Formats: sequence, C-alpha cells, structure tokens
Amino acid sequence: MARIVYLNDGFVSEVEARISIFDRGFLFADSAYEVTAVLDGKLVCWAEHFSRLQRSLDALGIMLPLTEKELLNLHRELIKKNKLVQGIVYLQVSRGCADRNFIFSDSMKPTIVLFSQREELLDKKRLERELRVVTVPDKRWGRRDIKTTQLLYSSMVKTEAKNIGKDDAWLIQDGLVTEGTSNNIFIIDKEKKIITRDLSNLILAGVTRSTIITFMEQLGLELDERPFTLFEAQSASEAFITSATNFVTSVVEIDGKLVADGKPGPLTKLIRESYISYCFEYAV
Ligand code: PLP
Repeated sequence: MARIVYLNDGFVSEVEARISIFDRGFLFADSAYEVTAVLDGKLVCWAEHFSRLQRSLDALGIMLPLTEKELLNLHRELIKKNKLVQGIVYLQVSRGCADRNFIFSDSMKPTIVLFSQREELLDKKRLERELRVVTVPDKRWGRRDIKTTQLLYSSMVKTEAKNIGKDDAWLIQDGLVTEGTSNNIFIIDKEKKIITRDLSNLILAGVTRSTIITFMEQLGLELDERPFTLFEAQSASEAFITSATNFVTSVVEIDGKLVADGKPGPLTKLIRESYISYCFEYAV
C-alpha cells in the first residue's frame, strides 16, 4: 500500500511526491532532519525533537515557515492518514531550490517533507538485541551538533561494520569515543557510575540521551558526562546506545572484546524499561 506523505504544501501519495533536482538538500546535503518515534499512534518526545530541529535550522540559517503547533498537526495528520500505530515519522527541511551555487541567499523557500515508516519498535527481540561494534576514526565534519542529512561517512562505516558481521561502528577522535553512527553511547563503570560523552559540537545532542539523563537520579544512578576512552568502554561493566528508534540497547562486544561477561546488564534493562514507561506516559 502506497503511503501518504507530506511535501511542501500538502499530502500526496508517495508515488506522486517529487522534489526538484535543484533542491539544495539533494545537491549539498543542505538540510536538517528529525526522526520521531510513534507508539500507540502518538509522538514520543515531540517537544524535544522540535526544539532540536529549531536549533539545527537556526545554526544553518533556514527559516521554518511553520509554528510548532502547525508542525505537530502535520505529524498527527500524517499518522492518522497512514493509520500508523508503531513506527517513526521522518521530517526533513531543506533550504530549498536554486541554481547550483555554493553561495546561498537567505530568502529561499524551504522544502518540507514528512513520511512515516512502520517499525516494530517494541518487539522483544529488537529491544533485547546484543550489539557487537567495531571502532573507526571519526572523520565527520566538525558540526555534529547540527542534525543535517550529511550522513555519508556514518552510512559507509556502518555498512562496513555490517559487512564484517558486526552491528555498528563507534567513532573515535583523539583517543576518545564520540558516539555511534546514529546513536549516543553510555558506559557503566564498576562503581555503577553512568558515563556518557559531554555535549559539544563533536556529538549530536540525542533526545533519548537527554531524556534518560533526567531520570538517572530517580533511579539512584550517578551520572558523569565526560569524554571516555575505548579502553574504559571495553573495561566497563555495561555499555549501551540510545536513539529515538532503538531506545536503550545493550552493547556486548567492542572491537572483539566482550563487555564484562558479554551479556546485557541489569542497569541497561532498568534504564530501558524506565524510558519506555516514560515514552508511553508523555507521548502526544
Ligand atoms: N547521534 C547521532 C549521530 C545520531 O544520528 C542520532 C540519531 O539519529 C543520535 C545520536 C541519537 O539521537 P536521538 O536520541 O535524538 O535519536
């Protein structure tokens, strides 16, 4: 069944949706995006996704021609039209169309695209996956805090990891772990302290990351936001990644070395369950 998608000024069938070859999203990856999880037909962490989108667009100098409420309503309408119960809504805002030129004007009309994708986000097997990762040098650009569609390096190294039978690549810069190709990383040390990379232009401020941080204290867990080494990660008692679509997923092997006994840890499970309860409680 063809999906209904949103393009610029209205909803159309996915087979009719067309974007110009002059769109700067296509020519220069000149666009920002968000992926919002949908559970029970409702949007998870909507306000946080919207404010990160606004931050990305402000950094790029792209004017969003919609209010938060209007964009929320488009998301809701898309969910309704596609009868989406569980999955994601993908949103992309590009600077718009112009003859190919490195220099852009500040008066362009942005291209706005929304589409949905059904995904079994709560499938037990998916939630309880045991990820095996390899590390690679972080060769992405220096503004990873902006959620742009410039994702080629991440896509290449993730594919290379898959081709050697692993699940993902972790990115390393100056001997320190930055993040996964499309997720943030947490490790838990022997004293049960939760460690995650501090925010800067070197990583994306994940919505899932910031959400689980808000209830660490409630769970009696101590948080340390700081850079950490590969050795620390490999010596951790637990490791996990966070993202809007993978929630909180265990990592059991890093560069061929098992994390602790190579089994998902109890604190990771506790944090995942707390996060899922939170999602249901606050989805809109
Ligand atoms: N880091 C990167 C590079 C990402 O691409 C993503 C998600 O796409 C994340 C972290 C996790 O962010 P979120 O929790 O908002 O999905």
